[in-house]
Amino acid sequence: MRGKVMGKDSKVVLITGASSGIGAVAAERLAAAGHTVVLGARRADRLAEVAEKINANGGTATALPLDVTDRAGFARFADTARDRHGRIDVLVNNAGVMPLSRLDALRVDEWQQTIDVNLTGTLHGIAAVLPWMTEHGGHIVNISSTLAFEVVPASAVYSATKAAVRALSDGLRKEHQNIRVSVISPSFTESELLGSGGDPGTMAWVQDMASKLNMPTSVVADAIAYAVDQPATIDVSEIVVRPAAQAG
Ligand code: NDP
Repeated sequence: MRGKVMGKDSKVVLITGASSGIGAVAAERLAAAGHTVVLGARRADRLAEVAEKINANGGTATALPLDVTDRAGFARFADTARDRHGRIDVLVNNAGVMPLSRLDALRVDEWQQTIDVNLTGTLHGIAAVLPWMTEHGGHIVNISSTLAFEVVPASAVYSATKAAVRALSDGLRKEHQNIRVSVISPSFTESELLGSGGDPGTMAWVQDMASKLNMPTSVVADAIAYAVDQPATIDVSEIVVRPAAQAG
């Protein structure tokens, strides 16, 4: 059984996209370890279910509505979390969409949504906590993807956003020695991500791959928790996690 952190090691962790998939399981994992979690996403009912489960199991979770594309809304989310819990130690920028399609399908609205959520949303998160963390220190965990490293047909826009998340994480780390910055890049993971749009033919093909390769969500949640639970002097800069069958 994993140990529970106590006292000063217990952190206030903000997690975006916590209403399903990796965000929800990471929230449960971090709360079970003794951290206070503040959950953000748009689907209030799903978010409340995650928070209720955590609180029923003896953890401490607050659910707050959040659309990461709304800069002022993200600032309010962070301010509310800090007012309630006195500080912000960690932000997990996890919210994301993956509506895959070839560029010549010209699904331009979905390109924009992918950029707005995956890239601008991550930047909004950084903007919301940076003044606090510059003064007090902290940790930002950004969720990228193995598709940041390898672009495949139909992943160009998604890959571009995830590569950009890695680049801005690097920049942030170099600018702030008192802010730890971690990038977690998973491959196929059980979640609701394949329901976020895209070209139907492409998504059916991806679904077929996913059904053969999907990792349990807990694997990625564990990677996030590993980065969070290192001592303040240790920056886990990058974790890439993929199914062994995909490694060759
Ligand atoms: P899910 O679809 O299960 O979770 C995505 C989460 O993002 C949901 O909670 C959703 O909540 C939230 N979200 C989407 N848009 C917004 C928005 N505008 N504002 C706030 N929250 C939003 O998928 P995953 O758990 O897989 O995705 C989590 C992260 O992992 C993403 O960044 C994804 O790109 C990344 N990833 C996933 C992989 C996989 O195979 N599953 C592989 C590599 C990376 P709501 O709709 O309630 O707002």
